[in-house]
Amino acid sequence: MLPVAIVGAGPVGLAFALSMQRAGIDCAVLDARAVGSPHNDPRILALSHGSRQILERLGVWSDIDATPIATIHVSQKNFLGRTLIHARDAGVPALGYVVEAATVCAALERACTASGVHIRRGTRATGSLAQAEYALLYCTMTAGSEEIRAQLIAWAEGATRSEDAIVCRDYAQQAIVATVLTRAPLEAIAYERFTTRGPVALLPLGDRYALVWSVPDDEAAGLLALDEHDFIARLNSVFSGRLALTTVSARTAFPLGLRYRKSPVGKRAVWLGNAAQTLHPVAGQGFNLALRDVSQLARLLQDHPQDCAEAVLLARYAAARRLDRDGTIGFTDGLIRLFGVRGEWATHARGAGLLALDLLPAARRFVAQRMIFGARGGPWRVNPLQ
Ligand SMILES: Cc1cc2nc3c(=O)[nH]c(=O)nc-3n(C[C@H](O)[C@H](O)[C@H](O)COP(=O)(O)OP(=O)(O)OC[C@H]3O[C@@H](n4cnc5c(N)ncnc54)[C@H](O)[C@@H]3O)c2cc1C
Repeated sequence: MLPVAIVGAGPVGLAFALSMQRAGIDCAVLDARAVGSPHNDPRILALSHGSRQILERLGVWSDIDATPIATIHVSQKNFLGRTLIHARDAGVPALGYVVEAATVCAALERACTASGVHIRRGTRATGSLAQAEYALLYCTMTAGSEEIRAQLIAWAEGATRSEDAIVCRDYAQQAIVATVLTRAPLEAIAYERFTTRGPVALLPLGDRYALVWSVPDDEAAGLLALDEHDFIARLNSVFSGRLALTTVSARTAFPLGLRYRKSPVGKRAVWLGNAAQTLHPVAGQGFNLALRDVSQLARLLQDHPQDCAEAVLLARYAAARRLDRDGTIGFTDGLIRLFGVRGEWATHARGAGLLALDLLPAARRFVAQRMIFGARGGPWRVNPLQ
């Protein structure tokens, strides 16, 4: 019987598979995508320093092209308050690294294949049944169906299923992603600009910026339909013309919401990545949180390889991750709600908050540490596994 079956060969499933392999635990990964289909995820990810350390330990970091972020510039349109968070505030060489999701997937898959992890493409999981001694995973392929028997099923299928015990909030927003060129020097600065219509992020990526522009549902189609000249003009106006943006690549839209399972574990099952929690990309936390989950789960399983799905072990994992998971979900959701409040008083309060943050090094350090390391980067610095 297989110790672990992983559903989904996205970045999270692959990172978990590699962690399992490094921990000496056998696993198989299955993915619905057809054999030979390329990694073409257009998302650009901001990875934290903590994520870099995890990917280094997995031996894939050197295979990923990453642009460091030295400074994050947070501002609010039509208001003077702004704050600058520098890498030195957090005592790290860079606040984060900007990478293409497709590149991360490709690097993880190469490492998995080189280490002998079995990845089965063209295999779709359709359901499961947990028994006392094992779990059955039901799969379909073009040539029929199969049951896979494993101690533990790790669901990393990239979305929460509607029948699961999930909490949902529809932000009624979409994120338009693309890359843009600028005439101005990039200087390793990432911009996060809050507008009354939604946050806009520009992340340095090589000689370009990666754009994540969150807009209300009813504006998304209009922005996607604009020709390049008008789109760039609209984007430049969001940044009051300061960034001299010139051209934009093809644009893709992602619907945004918060969906998460109340518990990331069940009987002989664990949910990872977007299957456990799907977050708004405003603070760039989804994959970073998932990597911390994966890393901690792998360490726990490594110490108890007899039965990877022992109930007490999974409960320990859920308890160990609660603070970071709840904190990251709350932090991300809180930002959207805080900056979504309309009205003059709210705008002034937010501007004053940003200004205060700019004047208070300790508060800046707190925000920087939280974005870099999650909850364990806070002043309490707990190690929940101990
Ligand atoms: C616009 C945007 C920007 C973002 N920016 C950031 C950022 O800056 N930093 C950050 O940390 N995070 C960011 N995120 C979040 C990040 O993209 C996700 O957390 C991450 O990609 C989730 O990966 P995953 O492996 O869980 O899911 P996916 O990448 O969706 O992978 C799921 C895999 O499962 C397979 N699959 C699905 N169903 C089945 C099935 N039934 N059987 C078998 N296989 C199946 C799919 O084919 C796919 O390969 C962003 C998200 C968005 C939308």
